[in-house]
Amino acid sequence: MPGYWVFSAATSSSEVAPITLELLAKARTLGRDVAVFYAGPASDAAWAMLGDHGAATVYHYDPGDTLPAAGAAAALEALVGEHAPELVLFGMSVDDRDVAGRLSARLGRAVLSNAVDVSADGGVSVTTEILGGTTVVETTYTDDPPALVVVRPKSFTAEPAGGGVPDVVAVQAPNVGHAGEAQVLERHEDASEGPQLADATIIVSGGRGLGAAENFALLDELAGLLGAAVGATRAVVDAGWVPYAMQVGQTGKTVKPGVYIACGISGAMQHVVGMKDSGTIIAINKDQDAPIFSIADLGVVGDVHKVVPKLVEALRERSG
Ligand code: FAD
Repeated sequence: MPGYWVFSAATSSSEVAPITLELLAKARTLGRDVAVFYAGPASDAAWAMLGDHGAATVYHYDPGDTLPAAGAAAALEALVGEHAPELVLFGMSVDDRDVAGRLSARLGRAVLSNAVDVSADGGVSVTTEILGGTTVVETTYTDDPPALVVVRPKSFTAEPAGGGVPDVVAVQAPNVGHAGEAQVLERHEDASEGPQLADATIIVSGGRGLGAAENFALLDELAGLLGAAVGATRAVVDAGWVPYAMQVGQTGKTVKPGVYIACGISGAMQHVVGMKDSGTIIAINKDQDAPIFSIADLGVVGDVHKVVPKLVEALRERSG
C-alpha cells in the first residue's frame, strides 16, 4: 500500500505546527499508511499529538542547533528510497519550503506549490490557485512517486482521529558537508498580545483607506471589543504603518476566521486570496465600486473614520 507522508518542522517552541495537523487530516483521507517526518526535538507530547491526528509512524530527525533543511532533506531522500511513499506533503513555512526544494533537487522530482487540495485516486492530483486565486488549476503527476506538494495553510481542517501513540523511528541525517553546518544562534519572536491572526475567530483588517499609521489605534480598539486580531494589507505594511507579521494575502498570511472586517481595503486579488474563505466578510469602503464588495457578505459604503467609531460606540453601549 502506498504511503502518504507529511513533513513537519517543530515550531520555535518545540511544538507540532498547526499546519502539520491540517495536512494529517488530509493525508488520512487518502489512505491508511500515514507517516510523519518530524524535524525537531523528541517530545512525548508531540508523538501523542501526531498519533491522535492519524500518524501511524513518525520518522524523527533531531537537527539540534543546526538549520534543519539540509539534513532533513538528505534523511528524507534516504527514507523515500527505502519506503517509496506515493506523496509527501509540506506546509508553506520557510523550513517546509526549504526542505521541499532540496528534496525535489535530490530526487529529480517536480514540486507543486500553493496547493489547496490533493487527491490520490489512481495517481496524485493537485489543485492549485494561480493568478491571485482567480484561476484554479488541476495537475496530475505522471512521474514516478513521490509527488512533492506544498500546501497553503487552512486548506484542510485539523481534527483529531483518535489514533494511538505512533511508532517512532529515530533517523540520522547522512553527511551533507558544509550544507549541514549552519547553526541557529538566536531566535526572535515578534511580541504580540491578544488573539493571533492564524487562530482568531474574528479579524479586523486595515488598508490604505485608514490614511495614516496612527489610525490603526481605531482598529485596535474595535478588535479589543470584539476579541479580534488585527490584520493589514501589504500596502500599509510596505508603508511601515504596521509590522509584516500582520499582512494578510498572497505574500502574507492565509486566514479563515468566522468574521473578517475589511476597513479601507480595496480588495486587490493578492489580498483577497488570503482571506476569501472567511465565514462572513464585512467591508467598509467609501468607494461603492471597490472590488472588495464583490466578495463581501455585508458592505458598508462609507468613511472608515466615521463608521468604525460608530461601531465602537455601539459595542461599548452594548457591553455596558
Ligand atoms: P488600496 O488598493 O490603495 O485601497 C485603499 C482603499 O481604501 C480604496 O478602495 C479606497 O476606496 C478606500 N478608502 C480610502 N479612503 C477611505 C476612507 N476614508 N474610508 C473608507 N475607505 C477608504 N496585498 C496584500 O494585501 N497582501 C498580499 O499578500 C499582497 N501580496 C502581493 C504580491 C504581489 C506579487 C503584488 C504585486 C502585490 C501584492 N499585494 C498584496 C498588493 C496588492 O496588489 C494591493 O496593492 C494591496 O492589497 C492594496 O492595499 P489596500 O487595499 O490597503 O490599498
